[in-house]
Amino acid sequence: MYPLIRFKPIFSGLRLCFGKTAFVTAIAFMLSGNPSLAQAPGGVTRSTGGLPSLGDSSELPAAEERRIGDRIAASIYRDPDYMDDPVLFDYVQSIWQPLMAAARARGDISAELDERFAWDVFLIRDRSVNAFALPGGYLGVHSGLIGVVSNRDELAAVLGHELSHVSQRHISRLISQQARQAPWMIGAMILGALAASKNPQAANAMIAGGQAVAAQSQLNFSRDMEREADRVGTGIMLDAGFDARGVVGMFEKLQQAGRLNDSGGFAYLRTHPLSTERIGDAQARQQLAPPTAPVAAKPGAETAEQLALHHAMMSARARVLGDPGVDILRAMSAEAQRITANTPTALDARAVGALYAGVLATLKSRDFKTAQAYADRLRTALAGQSTDSRVSQTLAMLQLEIALEAGTVPLNAAQIDISKTTSRAALLLQSRALLAAGKPKDVASRLSAWVTDHPKDAAAWRLLAVAYGNQNLTARAIRADAEAQVAQLDYPAALDRLRAAQAMLRSNPASGDFMDASIIDTRARQVDSLVKEQAMQDKSDRK
Ligand SMILES: [Zn+2]
Repeated sequence: MYPLIRFKPIFSGLRLCFGKTAFVTAIAFMLSGNPSLAQAPGGVTRSTGGLPSLGDSSELPAAEERRIGDRIAASIYRDPDYMDDPVLFDYVQSIWQPLMAAARARGDISAELDERFAWDVFLIRDRSVNAFALPGGYLGVHSGLIGVVSNRDELAAVLGHELSHVSQRHISRLISQQARQAPWMIGAMILGALAASKNPQAANAMIAGGQAVAAQSQLNFSRDMEREADRVGTGIMLDAGFDARGVVGMFEKLQQAGRLNDSGGFAYLRTHPLSTERIGDAQARQQLAPPTAPVAAKPGAETAEQLALHHAMMSARARVLGDPGVDILRAMSAEAQRITANTPTALDARAVGALYAGVLATLKSRDFKTAQAYADRLRTALAGQSTDSRVSQTLAMLQLEIALEAGTVPLNAAQIDISKTTSRAALLLQSRALLAAGKPKDVASRLSAWVTDHPKDAAAWRLLAVAYGNQNLTARAIRADAEAQVAQLDYPAALDRLRAAQAMLRSNPASGDFMDASIIDTRARQVDSLVKEQAMQDKSDRK
């Protein structure tokens, strides 16, 4: 079992920063004998020692780094502030996947790392502006970051930078030789530091323990690493078709936040102190970059205006889902009210975002009539968009969300055909709608095909479990639920379910057929060996 889950909930308390700060804090504790990796506060002093080169013996093997990452990931999946909002997730993926493709094409990600690492992004409900890399190719993105960036290029700038920390093996280089002997300890310390960063009492306890000095002064990647991540990250984002102005735009935001002394909301600023050199480098790179060959120039690509409208809606969504509090939600609704009442014709991206936020904010107070009125205004404003554009698809999903919340789905279900839906967010929303409309068979047939191609999609497995359950296919339902646990790396929980399904099939053979029984037996054996393997690793780690 995981020794780590004791630390949950990691993300409660939300006051202090959570991110690389916390992670590298944990690592820094273990690096006391390695001054070349330590860094002076504020990134002002030059690093005295060079970085170990790639392939250096002090580098953690990729498989081992992944194992540490998996332990942390399993804990994050169970945290209440882990956000599995499919709409926002698709948006982040629409930026993340082109970055990954560009990094592969440039050779920044080796075949081994590509294979061994997860390259997965977590969305975390947290209003502070932050993103961070974890061991094993996991990245965390706070809702606060998406809520504050002005365009997708700024988000790409941050993700490209974090991706580069992973691809350049900065994390593994921070983990020293002696730390490698106890990977479970590293994982535990990272989670402990994450928990402490969310919990002032625990943080105070650490200060009392005298470790705060290490936490405050050695917590960052070295300045050389930051410089490298800036350089590699910018190259990746340019190759992926993003605009280099995103980097400068992000720096300007951080600089402004620094001037206003507002770093409490800008956790990223604490982990990435700005120097005039970093800003100067970014500006120089922007000037050297080829004049932006707009993404929209490619055939079938969307116009800059469409991308801006879509971003405005997704950024608004992140602000609402980040739980801003009742007063802010009311203000969002009031702004949408004002726009609905006053503006006669076309709306700019800002107003479109405000209306979208108004719909979601009003849904939270279950005022469906008003939410529908804002959505109608939004649809009028965007009537000129082609039906297959992201903007139109986002509107269609918003309409479905209103129907699901208001319980009016059975009226609309006749129009839903999921047999050809390819967007994950649309597929999951439409599946929920069809389940609400009493059509579990359609859902089961489409989702069972989907999970064959996407076996790690826990949310899809869970909906599939409901679809089977609604048809009284109990053994299949339990197995689908077990697969959702496997997808989120909780093997013991998965095994519990598979064993329960086996017992049920024995006592009540009608709960499944021969095929169900055979699949469940096979999966129980496979998951059982995963549980045993994990237990053995834990044991050997502790030696
Ligand atoms: Zn960085």
